[in-house]
Amino acid sequence: MTNDLINKYDLRVPRYTSYPTAPHFNEGVNGAVYKKWLSELPQGTPLSLYFHIPFCDEMCWFCGCYTKIVKRYDPVKEYLGALLAEIDLVADALPGRFSAKHLHWGGGSPTMLKGEDWLAIMTKLRDRFDVTDDAEVAVELDPRTATEDYVRELQLAGVNRASIGVQSYEPKVQEAINRIQPYETTKQVIEWLRAHDITRINMDLMYGLPFQDTAEIERMVDLTVDLQPNRIALFGYAHVPWMKSHQKLIKEETLPDAAERWKQFTLAVERLKALGYVQIGFDHFAHPDDSMANAVETGELHRNFQGYTTDSAPAMLGFGASAIGYLPQGYVQNEQPLKAYSQAIYSGVLPAARGIELSADDKLRRDIIERIMCDLTVDLADVCKAHDFEVSTLTDDVAKLAPLSADGICTVDDTRITVSEDGRPFVRLVASAFDAYLGSGQGRHSKAV
Ligand code: SF4
Repeated sequence: MTNDLINKYDLRVPRYTSYPTAPHFNEGVNGAVYKKWLSELPQGTPLSLYFHIPFCDEMCWFCGCYTKIVKRYDPVKEYLGALLAEIDLVADALPGRFSAKHLHWGGGSPTMLKGEDWLAIMTKLRDRFDVTDDAEVAVELDPRTATEDYVRELQLAGVNRASIGVQSYEPKVQEAINRIQPYETTKQVIEWLRAHDITRINMDLMYGLPFQDTAEIERMVDLTVDLQPNRIALFGYAHVPWMKSHQKLIKEETLPDAAERWKQFTLAVERLKALGYVQIGFDHFAHPDDSMANAVETGELHRNFQGYTTDSAPAMLGFGASAIGYLPQGYVQNEQPLKAYSQAIYSGVLPAARGIELSADDKLRRDIIERIMCDLTVDLADVCKAHDFEVSTLTDDVAKLAPLSADGICTVDDTRITVSEDGRPFVRLVASAFDAYLGSGQGRHSKAV
């Protein structure tokens, strides 16, 4: 696979952490619709819960998340009050008591929360939901602000997985992205986490950042593997200053070009595999002992807003400003402005602002896209049968794969589509053939590589 293919195809396609993707959500899904959907949830449906903490104390210039910089704790504390009230509103709308097996805290920086507030919110959650004994409680952790006492408080709150953003270990790169985080800091925090029984460690690495080169990427991978995380995500920096104005602080002339990005990506992938990690999809890696590596073998890998996951819950409830969740009926996203979010809650209304109700066609395509993204192969006949559709429904979509097939990116064998090993970096492109919304609406996406 060469640079030619990178140049040939328009790789600005969605990451498919949902289908339909968020740009196609509409305002028809509001608090009243969400309340009705919650009330219809069958008893016994296992839940996942996602919490968004949209605060950080300093802006990293590469950041693509929805977050707000705060220098005082008061706004965080106020937000927490609204979050606790939202938990009550949602639990009241459910037709009974439900169990939760996966809890995920993202942001922003969830570790802006003080230890006492972790305890308050986990107590509230256990009061309103049956958090199972084996529940995974995952937190995105900023190592720059963590102390051993703080890690102990996370342990007391029940946290058992931590995701650590690393980006790069090179001081010049760190300076160019306004995130100074020495390797020793990351290493120390991981030691504290393990010492306090938070033994499931994810690390997020980046390529395509200013001043990065292949030598630095190789060193970054080696140092990361020395720390033996259970999972590693490898993200390409998406430079979208028209959407994220703080990215204008990154000088474009310091960014690697497409050919160099490709070299960095392929080097990192080959190095991670050579050092024993199992490639998941195209940008995630799991230690061979990790449950995610096992899920690949058994076809039980899934994809949601956190990327690849072993979480198979049919419903994820999103809490907090801008949080997205899903129910069997469709996707729901909360109000993004903090004021609108808390105003809705304190008026006793669920703060849902947008979403999409899934049609039968959406559900069919969602399953096809998820299997391609997770398994790199799908039998269209099987999925059509499960959804009561004729395979002929997809004739036009399959025809779109002809050029990809001619270039060795995938094969089409009767009703089975398979992404080739060399075609892995293009898996989003293969999945996009089944996206009925692509090209409509306002989606503008980052490059696949
Ligand atoms: S800590 Fe994370 S969420 Fe906050 S600005 Fe940095 S990258 Fe973005």
